[in-house]
Amino acid sequence: YAGDENRSLWLRRLRAIPVRAHHAPPVVVGEADSVREAIVRLFLEDVGTLYVLGRERLLAGVVSRKDLLRAAIGRQNLDEVPVGVIMTRMPNIVTVSPDDSVYDAAVKLLEYQVDSLPVVVPRGENRHALEVVGRFTKTTVTRVFVALGRDEPWVGGES
Ligand code: ADP
Repeated sequence: YAGDENRSLWLRRLRAIPVRAHHAPPVVVGEADSVREAIVRLFLEDVGTLYVLGRERLLAGVVSRKDLLRAAIGRQNLDEVPVGVIMTRMPNIVTVSPDDSVYDAAVKLLEYQVDSLPVVVPRGENRHALEVVGRFTKTTVTRVFVALGRDEPWVGGES
């Protein structure tokens, strides 16, 4: 049984694993793209959430599977509805920084009850002007969990 010292060392290591070392590439659409295009992209890229880019390719919002299902119900022409109209929009988007820990990001997933967090870096002074550099999802957490269980050396992101 691990002593207190080992235990706190382990906890410190666990909470220091950076998002930077584990996030996936972002899958994005433009604000003016249609709901149909977004659905096709969701299938082609095999993701559950798309990040929506607005002017200057900054983060404008997020569309999830259920957002797209809701939009598809009872609408005749999915080509005429832009994703910008149905997305959850900034500044109500929960994000993480590449420097945040995987632990803190996982806490955010649970706290806000979402499947996916855009990994962002600020562009300039305006804190709502965010560049999307990755995606952090429940799958990311599962991968890190399994890698920890296997005691894979790269988990901590040191190398
Ligand atoms: P689904 O709706 O497909 O189950 P989520 O649970 O992730 O997927 O999304 C729930 C709602 O929260 C959706 O309306 C979605 O637009 C929104 N949402 C998803 N991710 C985020 C996020 N990171 N920040 C804010 N809202 C989000």
